[in-house]
Amino acid sequence: MTILVTGGAGYIGSHTVLQLLMGGDKVVVVDNLDNSSETAIKRVQELAGERGKNLTFHKIDLRDKPALEKLFASQKFNAVIHFAGLKAVGESVQKPLMYYDNNLVGTIVLLEVMAAHGCKNLVFSSSATVYGWPKKVPCTEEFPIGATNPYGRTKLFIEEMCRDLYQSDKTWKIILLRYFNPVGAHQSGYIGEDPRGIPNNLMPFVQQVAVGRRNALTVFGSDYGTKDGTGVRDYIHVVDLADGHLAALAKLSDPSVGCEVYNLGTGKGTSVLEMVSAFEKASGKKIPLVMAARRPGDAETVYAETDKAERELKWKAKYGVDEMCRDQWNWASKNPYGYEAPTK
Ligand code: NAD
Ligand code: UDP
Repeated sequence: MTILVTGGAGYIGSHTVLQLLMGGDKVVVVDNLDNSSETAIKRVQELAGERGKNLTFHKIDLRDKPALEKLFASQKFNAVIHFAGLKAVGESVQKPLMYYDNNLVGTIVLLEVMAAHGCKNLVFSSSATVYGWPKKVPCTEEFPIGATNPYGRTKLFIEEMCRDLYQSDKTWKIILLRYFNPVGAHQSGYIGEDPRGIPNNLMPFVQQVAVGRRNALTVFGSDYGTKDGTGVRDYIHVVDLADGHLAALAKLSDPSVGCEVYNLGTGKGTSVLEMVSAFEKASGKKIPLVMAARRPGDAETVYAETDKAERELKWKAKYGVDEMCRDQWNWASKNPYGYEAPTK
């Protein structure tokens, strides 16, 4: 198959592209490199060995309709995996129009061009953020969904847009994947997460403390009603998550699929302190902590019900937090400044 991957130079995208190549697919990546480096593409190509030649890269912004039209006119895609989007919650509160423009307009343009070229198979990156602060856990796909910030609202709107699109034209096949908390890196330590600026997410921040780029981790809230008072999340190894996309692609060829939603998580909840301690064990580094107030908008406990993905996608996460931390440290220690060397 030939798969178009939008946002394929990014964290989850690069790991998924590698798994696709290793599975024998041809991959075309479209990315504007807004939050990523072309080095990630080169490294994926190297890791794929002989199969690296099946990867091509186009620096295109999804909102550039003529450029996307040209690409679709030049070759046929069996399906699209759509990762491209901005994802920083805090930034989305400061710059909502930028988020609506990038995420919503980018997706609308993509869907229009796909439809015009008869490619109606889509896998989309949604997020557990649509569950908000769930009334109970684990979260099932049937839970009510909502959003508490512009980033989350773009995920919610795109999900709804996809459902409307399918209702209007039943020849679409769409799988919406609600990711829980992706962490870790490919076992080679050659690709991994490399956020620009101050990391918003827990593990990229912990990793930067471990390599000496930051002094201490600020723990957002220690008064939650959880085992140790800190927030609980469902951390999932990025390679497991990448494999979930291959399972979703396979599912698209099932005639019964219309517009479906699946959680991609492990079904296990881990607190901030448990995660820090697993990382300290894996890295041998002490992570100094500063206890602080809760972060506005954060939920107490979020983890996935994984039954539906296991049953219908025949996919289940293989790795636990120790392996996630081992692989994250392997990447961090080999690439303390991510894909780029420090400038000074
Ligand atoms: P990432 O920032 O590493 O990757 C996203 C990629 O999209 C980047 O390479 C960026 O340059 C590109 N991009 C952004 N806007 C674009 C545009 N208009 N045109 C072309 N390329 C564009 O993020 P990630 O962690 O790999 O996340 C991938 C997707 O999964 C995103 O949609 C994100 O919202 C979603 N998601 C991520 C998480 C997480 O914790 N990482 C959790 C749930 C959902
Ligand atoms: N967190 C923290 N310090 C940080 C970043 C995150 O204590 O610098 C906590 C956060 O409050 C939450 C957990 O770590 O309980 C996971 O946060 P992240 O932003 O990675 O994911 P999300 O909240 O989007 O699930």
